[in-house]
Amino acid sequence: MTRFAVVRILFFMTMETIGEAWQQSVRITARCAAGRRDGMKSIRACIYSYDLDLRTLIWTRGAAFPISMLSERLKCPSCGSRRVTLIFHMPREPQTIAARRA
Ligand SMILES: [Zn+2]
Repeated sequence: MTRFAVVRILFFMTMETIGEAWQQSVRITARCAAGRRDGMKSIRACIYSYDLDLRTLIWTRGAAFPISMLSERLKCPSCGSRRVTLIFHMPREPQTIAARRA
């Protein structure tokens, strides 16, 4: 197991709710994951993404709302797809992740 994998596991264990994510100053970006094909017909790939406002989410869903359930509640406002990927931005990226990108 690489150090990168360990960081990922620790990260997910310590952040289960949107309240915890907000306390740890984590930013969450929602990105549309609609593919180029929708059933039989070919559609244009949607690349819409948006930085979620965690405070608004806590107001509407409650601080105890699980992060694991967040993506299934989201819908792309641009194309209407329910296939949404979440990207988590830690306040300070661990060195291991930064090194991997180099
Ligand atoms: Zn979309």
